Amino acid sequence: MNCIILSVGDELITGKTVDTNSAWLAGRMVELGVEPLAHETVGDDIDTVADGMARAAARAEVVLVTGGLGPTADDLTRQALAKAMGGAELVLDPPSLETIAEFFRRRGREMAPANRIQAMFPAGSTVLPNAVGTAPGMTARVGTSDVFVMPGVPHEMKWVFEHEVRPRLSLPRRTIRTHIVHTFGRGESDVGQMIADLMTRGQSTTVGTTVCSGMVSVRLIIRSETAEQAQTEEQRLVAELRRRLGDLVVGEGEDTMASVAGRLLHRKGQTLATAESCTGGLLGSLITAVAGSSEYYLGGAVSYANAAKQTLLGVDSELLERHGAVSEPVAAAMAEGCRHRLAADWAIAITGIAGPGGDSEEKPVGLVYTALAGPAGTTVTRHLFPGNREHIRERAAMAALNELRLAMGG
Ligand code: ATP
Repeated sequence: MNCIILSVGDELITGKTVDTNSAWLAGRMVELGVEPLAHETVGDDIDTVADGMARAAARAEVVLVTGGLGPTADDLTRQALAKAMGGAELVLDPPSLETIAEFFRRRGREMAPANRIQAMFPAGSTVLPNAVGTAPGMTARVGTSDVFVMPGVPHEMKWVFEHEVRPRLSLPRRTIRTHIVHTFGRGESDVGQMIADLMTRGQSTTVGTTVCSGMVSVRLIIRSETAEQAQTEEQRLVAELRRRLGDLVVGEGEDTMASVAGRLLHRKGQTLATAESCTGGLLGSLITAVAGSSEYYLGGAVSYANAAKQTLLGVDSELLERHGAVSEPVAAAMAEGCRHRLAADWAIAITGIAGPGGDSEEKPVGLVYTALAGPAGTTVTRHLFPGNREHIRERAAMAALNELRLAMGG
């Protein structure tokens, strides 16, 4: 089975809104064993949308459309569907009108007359109720294809897809399992090389890589006749990935670098403090994004200026003068001072040059020292990160957390 995804909206074609709906839908369809053939984005114009629908319906068995179901004059997707169906009339669906009116009543508001259009559907189409917004979706046959129209607002689109579209898809009788393994420490091509033979696209299993914040994630999609077969294959592949990738593997599924490091600290009943210079609190932010981090994270210092490194962390002024703030001895002193002052089991320090200025010949942009002070002493790592200020800061925070993870045996 295959599909084409059509997103509708002037804000999408002008680049004001990034089309995340298509990416999400494509991902879900792949998971369900349906092959996306193409994505198309069109503006809010009846003829263009109708034409897009008709062309997609001529090529694919399923067409997924999002956007343009609002109550205003520029929301024209329902009219476009009517046109693509060969000129169907729009008719009122009283139950939908009542649901929309009730939606407003529950919020203590009165339904505006303009919203009535959202209860109108092309004759011959089927309403796809929307429990989380005012724009119901709709589905109709166009030629030999099933066209599904969903609202543009991402959380409404997801709701309508999961509750109304997915159950209507005549999916291949197969079980699909997906799994994701996160790694850190090597680039995508290195990881790809280590698992190259597993990545050849088979009919039943797809293994691919994606990168986000320096983490290279390996995504598995396993299709099988039975749930047991799929589960066995998933376990076999995950074990094989873990064997090949060793301690590059940070975690699986919803795990993040900070949640994995946090889990290790929690298990051992140990505490963590942070001393940040060029990351300006980013590390603390990643750590505290994990629910329950108060169990192990004590806090830290954003010691940006040299004076702050001295007063907050007790870094020796002579050390700063002799080696400069971005240096191995200062990174070590920051971590040790932080560990001591907050009485933590572990302390992480980060000092570096995130750029674009502030560099010199021997200290280029991207030079970052991360230090980890722990029960067995202090280690400092020198990094040279590529990329812009944002990338360098992000990579520094992630690398520092990764060093903690590795030191704790995670
Ligand atoms: P509603 O009636 O609930 O507003 P709608 O179908 O009319 O739904 P649109 O008016 O097209 O939806 O879009 C509403 C908002 O949803 C847009 O302003 C935009 O923020 C977001 N949106 C629309 N399409 C997409 C998309 N493809 N990807 C991400 N966001 C989108």
